[in-house]
Order: sequence, then structure tokens, then C-alpha cells
Amino acid sequence: MMVTSSIQRKCPQCNTWNTEGEINCKSCGTTLDVSTKLKEDHEARERKRIALPKTKFDHFVDRIAKSNNPFIKVAYVFIKTVWFIYWVILSIFLWMVAATPG
Ligand SMILES: [Zn+2]
Repeated sequence: MMVTSSIQRKCPQCNTWNTEGEINCKSCGTTLDVSTKLKEDHEARERKRIALPKTKFDHFVDRIAKSNNPFIKVAYVFIKTVWFIYWVILSIFLWMVAATPG
């Protein structure tokens, strides 16, 4: 998608109008680009997560995720899928309970 330099973008923080393409607000420095903002948020979360001391379970998951053993990789994907399906079923169940009158 092409963007022209005539398009302005409003800063969500201080309401200053910035030229499209500016990554940070020229007034307060707030990140304007949504994808950059999301990336920064994600990185901040990652840093926070890394700062936390790892549990034995985290190490275990890390080892599995980084494993080169194809069987372990398949098992890892399988467990993640089962976990996801479990949550879907659980949320459907909760929704049904909530939707049942009385
Ligand atoms: Zn600003």
C-alpha cells in the first residue's frame, strides 16, 4: 500500500498532527505507527517475561520447543492443539451455562 506524505496522523497522546510515515510523535515522542507500537509492546512483554525467574516447567517447555527431535516437535504441536481445543470446549461450555435461563 502506498502512502502519500500529505496524509497526517494524530498523536493519541497529545493530539499533535504528525506527517504520515513518522514513527514517533514530533511533540511527545509517542509511537504513532501501529505495527511498531505492537512490536514494542510485544518486546516489552517479552523483556518482562524474561526478567521473571524461570520455573522448572518453563525450562522443560523451552527444551521441548527447541528440540530437534521430530517426534518431540510433533508431540509439542499436538499438545498445544489439544490445549487449544480444551479451551474452546471450555469456553463453549461456559457460554452454554451462561446462556441457560435460571
Ligand atoms: Zn504526541
